[in-house]
Amino acid sequence: MSRELERRRILAKLPPLEAVLRGSVIVRVLRCGKPGCHCAEGEGHPATYLSVTHAGGRTEQISLPAELVPLARRGVGAYRAWWAAVEKLSALNRDQLRAQRRPPAALRRRSTGRSPRRPRRPG
Ligand SMILES: [Zn+2]
Repeated sequence: MSRELERRRILAKLPPLEAVLRGSVIVRVLRCGKPGCHCAEGEGHPATYLSVTHAGGRTEQISLPAELVPLARRGVGAYRAWWAAVEKLSALNRDQLRAQRRPPAALRRRSTGRSPRRPRRPG
C-alpha cells in the first residue's frame, strides 16, 4: 500500500476529534457502611470514575453516573484512537523522510564525510 493511501486510510477511521477525553474509565467497588446493606458482606456497590493523571502526578477522579459512562468511554476511545493515529502517521512520515533524504547513487559512492558541494581548499 502506498504511504498516501495508508495515510488516508488512517484518517478515515478516526472518530471526531472534539470527542476526545484523556484518562481511563475505572470501576471501583465501594462499601457504603449503611447497617444492614448487602455490601457489608457480599459484593460492594460498583462505582465508575474517569481517572485523569495531570502533569506533576496529581490524579483527578470524576465519578460518573451510569448514563454518562458510555459517553466517557467513547471519549477515552477517541483520545486513544487519535494518539495511535498520530504515532502511525509519524512513523509513515519518518519512513518517507528517510527515503527522500537518500542521496543520489553517484554521491553515495564517495564516502568522504564532507558535503559534496563544498569545493576543496588547496593546500
Ligand atoms: Zn451498601
